[in-house]
Amino acid sequence: MEQTYAVIGAGPSGLAAARNLQRQGLAWEGYELGPGVGGLWDIDAPRSTVYESAHLISSKHTTEFREFPMRAGTPDYPSHRELLAYFRDFAAHFDLVPGFRFHTEVTAVVPHPGGGMLVTSTGPGGERTVHHAGILVANGTLSEPHVPALPGRFDGELIHTSVYKRAQVLAGKRVLIVGAGNSGCDIAVDAVHHAASVDLSVRRGYHFVPKYVLGRPADTLNQGRPLPPRVKQAIDSRLLKLFTGDPVRFGLPKPDHKIYESHPVVNSLVLHHLGHGDITVRPDVERLDGDGVRFRDGSRGAYDVVVLATGYRLHYPFLDPALLRWAGPGTAPDLYLNIFTPAHRDLFVLGMIEASGIGWQGRYEQAELVAAYLRARRDDPAAAAALEARAAGPRPDLSGGYRYLGLERMSYYVNKDAYRRAVRAETEALAGPPAAAQGVPAGTSR
Ligand SMILES: Cc1cc2nc3c(=O)[nH]c(=O)nc-3n(C[C@H](O)[C@H](O)[C@H](O)COP(=O)(O)OP(=O)(O)OC[C@H]3O[C@@H](n4cnc5c(N)ncnc54)[C@H](O)[C@@H]3O)c2cc1C
Repeated sequence: MEQTYAVIGAGPSGLAAARNLQRQGLAWEGYELGPGVGGLWDIDAPRSTVYESAHLISSKHTTEFREFPMRAGTPDYPSHRELLAYFRDFAAHFDLVPGFRFHTEVTAVVPHPGGGMLVTSTGPGGERTVHHAGILVANGTLSEPHVPALPGRFDGELIHTSVYKRAQVLAGKRVLIVGAGNSGCDIAVDAVHHAASVDLSVRRGYHFVPKYVLGRPADTLNQGRPLPPRVKQAIDSRLLKLFTGDPVRFGLPKPDHKIYESHPVVNSLVLHHLGHGDITVRPDVERLDGDGVRFRDGSRGAYDVVVLATGYRLHYPFLDPALLRWAGPGTAPDLYLNIFTPAHRDLFVLGMIEASGIGWQGRYEQAELVAAYLRARRDDPAAAAALEARAAGPRPDLSGGYRYLGLERMSYYVNKDAYRRAVRAETEALAGPPAAAQGVPAGTSR
């Protein structure tokens, strides 16, 4: 019997993996710990980190899979419910659902001495170990909370954004949100409509990008040839000053970096509410202090709820970090194009990219490359070996000329144009005769 490739996760990246293996006529089997497809966009799934008010922050135009546009009439920035429906439609359209084992968690992946990987999972039928030809890891990057060790004790409720689902839990409460990234700002805006008071603690200044510029989704402007970083930074900073104003005027610190050197915050409502006095900016937290929090400037606030919007950590608990060439917390696995590990030729990581505007199409192109490489291993070993040689060599520059902040969450950040160009170049280098098996049903070996 032909050996299958394992896909871990049925979120956007896992679905893209399954679809591209299918396109190349390669047999696969998927593992998903949740009840269905959609990844973190299924608010009820065990590792989902979306909340009721979550919508896309990149517009549908730059985010959707190119081969499967969203239905006519879908808004520019759909809600998590519409996105879940989209992924269910995608999976049904390409007949991917039967290829996944749901409610099934992968607990261990170890190399098989004869090649391929042994995958152990627990699911409805109990524990099971299967020898797969290889493994495509698409378990997501925004589910494992990063919880800073704050000194002191807090007597109120201390939660991380990963467990925040709906604003009603903040009703009538004095709320402090720690961190003004995209989730922190969304939750601050949610809180304004329910809480007794809303404070937002920020460590540094941010650049705020509006969702609309001149009535069009901001990320659909200037999508042609990318401008050189300095030119783009100069033009966009000026545009932002015109449209959203200077964040310093709203009480926020001056950013210590240029726009696009960190992930921008796509939210102009938070500035609107700062301007209305609905949200108060606070400095970085120094310590938890009984019924409140003490800040670095010596001031103190009393709170009922503290929401840690402090981000997420990479999490590959079922794999030996050495296989990923991963030095652990604070760093990212050292992978060629954030996908290939020179430590093992049957192991691939998908979705381990953070980038402004990369969308699901960018993740799809990762899967397209891996599937093309696997097909080349079968049909054109010289082309596959050439990629392996490049994967073992020096890392290409994927920054697009931007100097990213040296933060943990930026350790796997790429510039979307530079990244997609590099991935597409590899896929083109592998392109043999067109895939013969378009539309082969999922899980054909089962
Ligand atoms: C509030 C919010 C807003 C966002 N907005 C945008 C946006 O506007 N645009 C954008 O492009 N991205 C956005 N994202 C990023 C989001 O992560 C991606 O859109 C996308 O979900 C990534 O897909 P993925 O498949 O890599 O990971 P996920 O969607 O996280 O899916 C991973 C899947 O793997 C499963 N899994 C994990 N571990 C195991 C295991 N051991 N065994 C079996 N299954 C496992 C999980 O259950 C999950 O279903 C947002 C994220 C959040 C939280």
